[in-house]
Amino acid sequence: MKRFQPFWFDEAIEEADLASAKPLTHDIDTGACIIGGGYTGLWTAIMLKQKKPELDVTVIEKDLCGQGASGRNGGAMLTWSTKFASLIKLFGLEQACFLVKSSEQAVHEIQNFAQRHCIDCDCRVDGTYYTASNCAQMSSLAPIMTLLEKHNINHWQVVDKSRLRNTGSDANRRAIFSPHAGSIQPAKLVRGLRRVANKLGVRIFEKTAYKSHIGGETLAITTQQGAVIRATSLTFAVNAWLPSLRPEFSRNVVLVSSDMAITKPMPALLSQLNLHHGAPIIDARIFVNYYRTTSDGRLMLGKGGNYFSFANQVTSRFDKASRYSEILSQSLKYFFNTPMQLDRTWTGPSDRSVSGLPFFGQLKGQNNVYFGSGYSGNGVVQSFIGGKILSALITKQNNEWAGCALVNGALAKFPYEPFRSIGAYTIRNAIRRKEYAQDMGETPSKFDEWLSRLSASAAKLDPDIERLAKM
Ligand SMILES: Cc1cc2nc3c(=O)[nH]c(=O)nc-3n(C[C@H](O)[C@H](O)[C@H](O)COP(=O)(O)OP(=O)(O)OC[C@H]3O[C@@H](n4cnc5c(N)ncnc54)[C@H](O)[C@@H]3O)c2cc1C
Repeated sequence: MKRFQPFWFDEAIEEADLASAKPLTHDIDTGACIIGGGYTGLWTAIMLKQKKPELDVTVIEKDLCGQGASGRNGGAMLTWSTKFASLIKLFGLEQACFLVKSSEQAVHEIQNFAQRHCIDCDCRVDGTYYTASNCAQMSSLAPIMTLLEKHNINHWQVVDKSRLRNTGSDANRRAIFSPHAGSIQPAKLVRGLRRVANKLGVRIFEKTAYKSHIGGETLAITTQQGAVIRATSLTFAVNAWLPSLRPEFSRNVVLVSSDMAITKPMPALLSQLNLHHGAPIIDARIFVNYYRTTSDGRLMLGKGGNYFSFANQVTSRFDKASRYSEILSQSLKYFFNTPMQLDRTWTGPSDRSVSGLPFFGQLKGQNNVYFGSGYSGNGVVQSFIGGKILSALITKQNNEWAGCALVNGALAKFPYEPFRSIGAYTIRNAIRRKEYAQDMGETPSKFDEWLSRLSASAAKLDPDIERLAKM
């Protein structure tokens, strides 16, 4: 039986890719060994080669490059500008401004990189719309602009009625737009990065899984297949798999599904809906609805916060069609109220940190072993920054990336199991009830409001921004 693949990955992968997947069958020596062939691992490998062409870099990937989140995400290229309030609260104004500006710049850097290296990944930097898709969300858009404006880094603007139509749905009552965003075919980007890394001389071994490592200055890394890699540094770029491989992170993230649906091509309908651009449209709820189009006239819609995995196990539930297709269909109906034929649904694990922001650093007592994880569903652009951070750390550079606030900070923790899962589902159900009531124009219960606030960092739009904007 053919293995289930998410839509984008199926579209990107060719027979030749399967044939060229080369496992590691013998012991090797290398400089930097990176585990994980997603965006984080491959950007890090590429940036290492750009900095130090003489460094021998090896990537091992347990499956095929891109088979994790990088080949199945929504392809929405978003920035940290909507997390400005959280960034200020956690890291101070200077770092907050640095990270917002860097993430906006990264959108353009990714597009330039793809163009320069002929990565045909449908990269469209057409901006993004954040919308209020019910009356309760109306007041949450303006404060972002106020706070960013106050510090001279605002690129958001309120859209007028005619431009609001570009969101394709009357459910969107209000919207703000930023030009620093866009969309990509995610699997084509990651497979393109694999090609570029290969060309730069990075050795990539697919179907090769990390098992364990020992050692000091020279590390001995053993693969599940029994080969040994001797390396001077090791990097865990394994995203959702980090807690399984390094249990010390088991309380720093929760793995929660993001569920996705894509329609059959319907260019005429998209054109009627004014969806003739590549800008993702995202609403302002905690369990966001987000949608974007593809160049062949499909509409993709994603929704987060459905399945929470017990003890952060990356189970086969994350590698199937979505169990929540009913919820996805309801969202499509809410926005478009017109029949749309779904082609495929799929799902995948997002590694949510307590802050909603990623974290990087070195393992305790192992100065040459690095990690980067916790993108919290916002990793397409942010993993490019992850590559800058990790490549700076590995090459021992003393620069703005190695010294940035996302590196080696104290990490907040979620509760132990089973309290974490019980809590996660209790809060999830409260958020669902609250958002449903708001969609119906009703007032949610105080209890649901209170519980929802406990998970506010899951939203793409910062919930604290209203309070901070007033300060
Ligand atoms: C369904 C979904 C939708 C999303 N939508 C968006 C979006 O629209 N916009 C956005 O910005 N972000 C989105 N994200 C988040 C984004 O996709 C991720 O943050 C990003 O892809 C992380 O890249 P990564 O390289 O760190 O992880 P991954 O791409 O998951 O790569 C990790 C790799 O490590 C490999 N690995 C694991 N264990 C081992 C081992 N033992 N040995 C060797 N290799 C191993 C895995 O096979 C995997 O390929 C979404 C995520 C999901 C799941």
